[in-house]
Amino acid sequence: MMSERKIRIPIVAANWKMNLLGADAEEHCRTVASELEEATAEVLIFPTFVLIPTVATELDGTRIGWGGQDLHPEDDGAHTGDVSGPQLADAGCTWVLTGHSERRRDHGETDAVVAGKVAAALRNGLRPLICVGETKAERDAGTTLEVLGRQLDVALEPLAEAGHPPPPFAIAYEPVWAIGTGDTATPEVAQHAHEFIRSRVEELFGREVAEATRILYGGSVKPFNAGDLMVQDDIDGFLVGGASLDAREFMTIIACC
Ligand code: PEP
Repeated sequence: MMSERKIRIPIVAANWKMNLLGADAEEHCRTVASELEEATAEVLIFPTFVLIPTVATELDGTRIGWGGQDLHPEDDGAHTGDVSGPQLADAGCTWVLTGHSERRRDHGETDAVVAGKVAAALRNGLRPLICVGETKAERDAGTTLEVLGRQLDVALEPLAEAGHPPPPFAIAYEPVWAIGTGDTATPEVAQHAHEFIRSRVEELFGREVAEATRILYGGSVKPFNAGDLMVQDDIDGFLVGGASLDAREFMTIIACC
């Protein structure tokens, strides 16, 4: 589906993963917030849980949002080490990552668990940024679209159940083989996956919702490759890991959007 892009405001999201200490986070937020005036993109920061209050203090009153890197499917209870949707909302989060491949890899998260987390996000007024992507083995086996279709169908179910139009959400296409490897998807490979994802959203929610849905690319995005990716019809910004840890690199990527 050739989409009427540019009607969508891009999102550039920083996934800090398990990096940075309080002082780094403060300085990083100050730099980005003070230099952001020109940017058209919506900018989000996903710090590790313990840094959320620091980030919230620094970003309060700016146009940068913040969110959790994960949440538990339930809202409270005996789940040592987990963080709930109500706690994220209480900490001022507006977004939450769900289904990141490192959660699927390190914590055995299945598609069904991811769907439970999307449902928890919606219940708590958080916008889910739903991550999908194939492994190298799946790409080599020619099953990329099948994998993406399966991940999407399960993760989007709670949104479909929530009504029409669905509550706000976004999707990140993150090929696992491209994350943290320097092996970025080519613009053509990324566009092909993004076009497929948008067509799947259209099948579920109709054309209007599909045209409004931001689909971000993630996987070794750097200042030197962001521009070529961003001109693709169905790429609406980036989920940035490694390069987001350097405020200057992150700002350059934002400027490409
Ligand atoms: C990520 O983990 O979401 C990611 C995109 O990482 P990187 O940019 O380091 O590949």
